[in-house]
Amino acid sequence: MTTTASTAADPGTAPAPTTAPTFRHFIAGEWCDSTSGQTFESRNPADTRDVIGRFQQGTAADVAMAVKAAETAARLWRRTPAPKRGEILYRFGALMAEHKERLARAMTREMGKVIAEARGDVQEGIDIAFLMAGEGRRLFGDTVPSELPDKWAMSIRQPLGVAGIITPWNFPIAIPCWKMMPALVTGNTVVFKPASDTPHCATLLVELMAEAGFPPGTVNLVTGRGEEVGDAIVDSPDVQVISFTGSSATGKGIAQRAGRRLKRLSLELGGKNAIVVLADADLDLAVDGILWSAFGTTGQRCTACSRVIVEQAVADDLLARLEARARTLRLGDGQDDATDVGPLINESAVEKVERYVDVGRTEGELVTGGTRATDGELAHGHFYRPTVFANVKPMDRIAQEEIFGPVLSVIPVPDYAAAATAVNQTRYGLSSSIFTRDVNVAFRAMRDFETGIVYVNAGTTGAETHLPFGGWKETGNGHREAGHAALDTYTEWKSIYVDFSGRLQRAQIDNQ
Ligand code: NAP
Repeated sequence: MTTTASTAADPGTAPAPTTAPTFRHFIAGEWCDSTSGQTFESRNPADTRDVIGRFQQGTAADVAMAVKAAETAARLWRRTPAPKRGEILYRFGALMAEHKERLARAMTREMGKVIAEARGDVQEGIDIAFLMAGEGRRLFGDTVPSELPDKWAMSIRQPLGVAGIITPWNFPIAIPCWKMMPALVTGNTVVFKPASDTPHCATLLVELMAEAGFPPGTVNLVTGRGEEVGDAIVDSPDVQVISFTGSSATGKGIAQRAGRRLKRLSLELGGKNAIVVLADADLDLAVDGILWSAFGTTGQRCTACSRVIVEQAVADDLLARLEARARTLRLGDGQDDATDVGPLINESAVEKVERYVDVGRTEGELVTGGTRATDGELAHGHFYRPTVFANVKPMDRIAQEEIFGPVLSVIPVPDYAAAATAVNQTRYGLSSSIFTRDVNVAFRAMRDFETGIVYVNAGTTGAETHLPFGGWKETGNGHREAGHAALDTYTEWKSIYVDFSGRLQRAQIDNQ
């Protein structure tokens, strides 16, 4: 059987050529076949005739083997000095830098984002590898004075054991690195299940990890369906922590199951990110930020801007500029440097956008876009025109629900107070931004917006790896990726007291 969730529904795709390479799981340091004996295909979303390869259709039995390998490896890895672990991360980062162009091209081919953005995605992976390599020589704990004489008090971080890493397709190098680098440097081992739309990127990444020198079993790759491989990882009693990025619906299901085992769980979920444009803003700069945030990665970033909340006084002006610029965006294969907007990931993503555009026609005014793009070569891929709706209200469905495509709602409001209310009138809370020249209002926005990330005079996307990344409300469950905060997901704190007085000293009693 050769099917994949992403391409099985594609009508009219050519049958896979028999020459498409077959890739394997990576378990206990060996490349191996699935116990299922089955594979699935990954295809290029810009041209679905292009089959990238066949990948193992993993099973719960495969996961059990990978977890066993990870558990065994964890015994040695946790005792490997952290600076030594960090050196391997450093080598991995250097290898990624060496192979950056190859990884970026493979990414564009497999999930469609334009090549400049794919290079940025790989760069994010490199950045977090180097940042976390440095953590091997830090991993700071607290050393504090004891309240008693001749007593030492300190805290250290210790690894949890085996980390289950479940990732989406939209940042197929950066997100696995955001998760695996802190997990590994702190002494955990990993079982990695990538999205079924991007198994090739995951395989290339793990090949480089093996080359960098991670010992056998520290990094294990199992490809296959979320409901089979993902479920088995979440349900395994021998996986101590799950780090998941994906949709809120999947994340909630995982939270229920992980909760039954009181398993550590980091969730990074959906977004409905807003850019506020006030009347005093530099409108050209705002339009640059909006286009980059709304249509970059074809609107398929968790931090994508899908709502522009504009002060009424400049709404018409902003809309006219947005429409003019959105119409000129060039759709095409992201490997072509002239392309501004690549394809959506798969047919079901296009259908979801179509459903929401139908809703949008009843809620706002369609300004531009609103159709599939099928001219010439585009007919072979999953292309949709950048779409803008005007006069949307804050509680309309297209302003509330995550569409995950190139669809932007423009919401007029009377003033800053109404804008701030609208920003927060959503169940998500990942990223937000404000364009204004008034420093006082900018600081109010930094205080008022209920999101994990706030930008001033920039779009909603562009996080750097050395600050925490994550969202409020239903975007997550309070954990953060990147920065020092990422270490909290993968470690337990241990507080240690050493009494060198030679007598019994009772805290809170003998010092009163
Ligand atoms: P998804 O459908 O939830 O899939 C994410 C991952 O979960 C995939 O590897 C998927 O495997 C797996 N999965 C599916 N069902 C599962 C189950 N029952 N148990 C365990 N794993 C399961 O999300 P997506 O469409 O790939 O990604 C888009 C979503 O991710 C958007 O909502 C976006 O906002 C969010 N996202 C959030 C962030 C953030 O940091 N907040 C970053 C990027 C993306 P299969 O591929 O095999 O189905």
